[in-house]
Amino acid sequence: MSDDAKKDVVSRRGFLGMGSAALAAAGMLSAADAAAQEQKPYPTKDSRSASDPGPGNPPLDGQNPDSFFPPSSDAGAVQTFKYPFGLAHKRMQEGGWSREVTIRELAISKTIAGVDMRLTAGGIRELHWHTAAEWSLMLYGNARITAIDLDGKSFVADITEGDLWYFPTGVPHSIQGLGPDGCEFLLVFDDGGFSEFDTVLLSDWMAHTPHDVLSANFGVSEQSLEKLPTKEKFIFQAAVPGALAADQKAAAGSMGASPHDFAFRTTQPAVTKRTKGGEVRIIDSTKFKVSTTIAAAIVTVHPGGIRELHWHPNADEWQYFISGKGRMTVFATGGRARTTDFQAGDVGYIQKTLPHYIQNTGDTDLKFLEMFKSNVYQDLSLSEWLTHTPPELVLAHLGIDKATLDAIPRDNIALMPK
Ligand code: MN
Ligand code: MN
Repeated sequence: MSDDAKKDVVSRRGFLGMGSAALAAAGMLSAADAAAQEQKPYPTKDSRSASDPGPGNPPLDGQNPDSFFPPSSDAGAVQTFKYPFGLAHKRMQEGGWSREVTIRELAISKTIAGVDMRLTAGGIRELHWHTAAEWSLMLYGNARITAIDLDGKSFVADITEGDLWYFPTGVPHSIQGLGPDGCEFLLVFDDGGFSEFDTVLLSDWMAHTPHDVLSANFGVSEQSLEKLPTKEKFIFQAAVPGALAADQKAAAGSMGASPHDFAFRTTQPAVTKRTKGGEVRIIDSTKFKVSTTIAAAIVTVHPGGIRELHWHPNADEWQYFISGKGRMTVFATGGRARTTDFQAGDVGYIQKTLPHYIQNTGDTDLKFLEMFKSNVYQDLSLSEWLTHTPPELVLAHLGIDKATLDAIPRDNIALMPK
C-alpha cells in the first residue's frame, strides 16, 4: 500500500481500523495472514454471507446490532461481559423487590456484584449486615438509611436521587422508602460472589435463636418475645417514618451521632472532567472518605461522543448503564476483541488493564457508572500514552504521519466530542 493509500485508510477509518495490508506494514500481521485476509473481504451487512434466514429474535437483535453484525475488527472468543438486570430473577415481596447480578449471572464479574432494589413508601429493606462492603446510588425517589459505626454511634440520613452511600463490611444498616413514591437504588458490593439473599438479617437471626437465650440476653420475659418473627422478612411494608430529626435524636441517645458520614450528596465536590463530549464525576475515598474499597466514576457521554480508548491499571471495571444507548469494544489481547451494545439496566464488566471505549450510539445522553474495587480511581488513556511517548517511536509503530499524531489530544480528556 502506498503512503497516500495508508493515509486514506487512516482518515477514513481511524488508525485502529487499519486494513490488513496496513497492519502488515506496521508489523502487526504476517504478510501471509494479511494476504489471506485480503482475499476474503469481510462481508457487508446486506451481503449474502451476512444473511440470517433461520430462527431469530428481531427485538433482541435490534438491541444488539454489534452482535448481530459484528464490526470486522471483532475476533476470537472473548468471555461474555454483559448481563441485563432485566434477565435476573426478581424477588417480589410486599414493600418492594430485589434482583441481583453476581458471578452466578455474569461469570467474569469476580470482584463486584450488583443489586437493583425497589422499596415502596414505607417499604423496609430490613436491618442487616453482610460480608461485603456496600456502595449505593439512589436511582429514583427518596429513602431513609440507618447504621451504627464501629463505636456504636448512630447514623440516620435521608437520601434522594443522585446521592450515594457506603456501608463497610459488618456495619449494620437499613433502608426505608420515603414519600411520595418510595425509591429504587443500585447496590454495588466489593465481591462478585456476594448475594443480597445471604445477609445477616435481624428477623432471621431472632427466628433462629432460642427464646430463653433471647430472654436471658435482653433481661426481658420470654412472654414479651412471643411475637418475634419466625422467619426472615428481608423486605416488608411498614408506615412511612416521621421527621428525620426525631429519628436521629432517638437513635443517637446519650452517645451522640456518628462523626462519620456514610452518605455522599450530589452537591458535594467530586473530581470532575468536563468536555464538549460529556462529563465524568470521579468519587473515591479521596472525596468520599468512608468508601475505602469502592471507587466510582459517574459518566455522561453526549450524543456522538465517546468515552475515549483507555484502561484501568488497578482494578476490574463493573459498569451499570443508567440511560441512553452505547457500545463498547473490549480488546482482550492475542488478537481477540468483542463489541457489545448496552442500554439502561445493563451491567458490563472489563478485566483489569484491558483496553476499552464506550461510544454513545443513541440520540440522547448516555449515562453510566464505572465501578472499581479500589480506594482510588485510576485510568490511562491511549491518547495521553501516544502523546507522551517519543513521536518517532509512535510513528514507527502506526504508519501514521506526524500531522495525524499532532492532531491527537495530548491529555487524558476522558470524553471526546463528535
Ligand atoms: Mn446491605
Ligand atoms: Mn473504563
